[in-house]
Amino acid sequence: MSKMISILGSTGSIGRQTLDVAGRLGLQVAALTAHASVERLEAQARQFRPRLAVLTDEAAARDLAVRLRDTETRVAGGTEALSEAATIQEADTVVTAVVGMVGLRPTLAAIQEKKRIALANKETLVCAGELVMDAAESAGAQIVPVDSEHSAIFQCLQGCEDRREIRRLILTCSGGPFYGMTYGEVGKMTKSDALRHPNWTMGPKITVDCATLMNKGLEVIEAMRLYRLPLSQVSVVIHRQSIVHSLVEFRDGAVLAQLGTPDMRLPIQYALTWPGRAESPAEPLDLLSCPPLTFAQPDREAFPCLRLAEEAAQEGGTACAVLNGANEEAVGLFLAERIAFHDISRLVAEARAEVGVIRRPSLEDILAADAAARRAVLRRV
Ligand code: NDP
Ligand code: MG
Repeated sequence: MSKMISILGSTGSIGRQTLDVAGRLGLQVAALTAHASVERLEAQARQFRPRLAVLTDEAAARDLAVRLRDTETRVAGGTEALSEAATIQEADTVVTAVVGMVGLRPTLAAIQEKKRIALANKETLVCAGELVMDAAESAGAQIVPVDSEHSAIFQCLQGCEDRREIRRLILTCSGGPFYGMTYGEVGKMTKSDALRHPNWTMGPKITVDCATLMNKGLEVIEAMRLYRLPLSQVSVVIHRQSIVHSLVEFRDGAVLAQLGTPDMRLPIQYALTWPGRAESPAEPLDLLSCPPLTFAQPDREAFPCLRLAEEAAQEGGTACAVLNGANEEAVGLFLAERIAFHDISRLVAEARAEVGVIRRPSLEDILAADAAARRAVLRRV
């Protein structure tokens, strides 16, 4: 069980829920980081008294330093300070809850220091999963997933010593707000339509990813990296109720699933208490009052992002970094209302066609592929 944590991205949806869990479990907090949310980080620092508070926006960090003058919290600014928060000596666990590829370097830095990584920041595993998993293996650092599907799989795999016993992983997918629509109907959906997720309240980037189904595509890649399995052993099934969080089918045909009411505090808490469990505030699942559990095939025609992600997963090398970089840029443009919904998948496909793939990439190759993908998107708008 974790005793003292550092949270990268503490002001976001996962970050705030992590602090809620940490408060209930009585964990100490060594470092908190955000991008520019000065007021929220100030309030968190006053409540949790970390050694270090980081804002990657330098001007915001200067403002925070003035506000926290009367406390013992040291303030640092800039992107490099994320790695300082990730490696702070007092923390045994780092919760990676920043959004996007910016989480990669601090995650690698924390792994070098043998911290437990409670990993929410899926973009890091999508871009550089093999590097990250290899680094964790050689440093002896544990990576415990926070993403609800991967946490479900992690829970189902407790006691499974031999990965060859896994026949396949089955990721469940809510289908997002546009489930059941045709490609043409989906194309008319706006930013405010996309930000209305049926079952979860999350940050804006992942909420859009859920609407395009890119989120599920990123999760397929995340699962392949975490459990070192090929694409042929990771499948996706639509499950509108978000009660079965994912399943594992074993060699003998047994299928294990983890069920629960949709509440991210449960997978967050498990990443902190693993291998143990603790009481949680999540609403207990009442099987007798919950809606019928249904399962269906995802529609890869109406939602091309899922197919694009699976193609990148199949190709490997830097293909997933290109996919992710292009998607981050395109989703940013969609949130700024500069492009339409289907432009996201179109721009990702065009960036993938334009940027060449490097097999067995180094960290520099991955960062270069990410940058090239972003340029390819920006050049087109
Ligand atoms: P939010 O947008 O709610 O929060 C993002 C956090 O990262 C904020 O603290 C934000 O700071 C910080 N941040 C944003 N940009 C930067 C940057 N360039 N440099 C440093 N810090 C930055 O995101 P979520 O909490 O929804 O998601 C976080 C991660 O967890 C994502 O990778 C997502 O895919 C994953 N995840 C989220 C789930 C959820 O339920 N929300 C479920 C499963 C996975 P500031 O407030 O200052 O902008
Ligand atoms: Mg998920």
